[in-house]
Amino acid sequence: MKKIGLIGGMSWESTALYYQNINREVARRQGGLTSAPVHLISLNFQEIADLQKQGDWVQMTAILQTAARQLERSGAEVLLICTNTMHRIAQEVQSVTALPLLHIADVTADAVLAAGLHKIGLLGTRFTMEQAFLRDRLAARGIECLVPDEPGRMEVHRVIFEELCRGQVNERSHQSLIGLVQQLAAQGAQGIVLGCTELTMILQPGDGGLPSFDTTALHAMSAVEFSLG
Ligand code: GLU
Repeated sequence: MKKIGLIGGMSWESTALYYQNINREVARRQGGLTSAPVHLISLNFQEIADLQKQGDWVQMTAILQTAARQLERSGAEVLLICTNTMHRIAQEVQSVTALPLLHIADVTADAVLAAGLHKIGLLGTRFTMEQAFLRDRLAARGIECLVPDEPGRMEVHRVIFEELCRGQVNERSHQSLIGLVQQLAAQGAQGIVLGCTELTMILQPGDGGLPSFDTTALHAMSAVEFSLG
């Protein structure tokens, strides 16, 4: 098995899901007590979230580049950034390491296209929904993204940072996210991309009547594929 390097902690709640998904899939495929060789750098999310608020992508780039180099030195053979949002600087992180970086948008695009869909609703942080880095990468594969209106985007962002990243799953928030999925469906979305690694904590498959694409699970599976492949 090849060693999997994770840059996580953003938040640790979803990094824990990566760890669980990777180990469960490796055990399922290899049997017995097999577990995955995982190297993890778990960053302090308060520091990252503060820098996100300040828009200091230069400092965040430096932090993630340091983590990538540490993972490479530790013997990791592949790199995953365990958050959609921080893929804004995926290219800069890739530029300092010889390790292959598995991009979360690529594995998501593979799954969306395999399902025969070309128009999806994208939920995530405001950065992910409003900036181009993820949407453009999906568009390059022929996938159009719809995002909620401004109040809807604020609501998804609030649920992520004020609840899910703190381990809180609230039924009222669940219902409000389902409402947003339904709105996107009414606008023509054929599926919903959970484009934030914590959203799988609150949205279940089929919520709002659309098939969903769990970026946490998809990204974790791509790591297993690499490790065992
Ligand atoms: N984990 C989230 C994501 O996938 C949000 C945390 C962050 O801002 O990195 O985008």
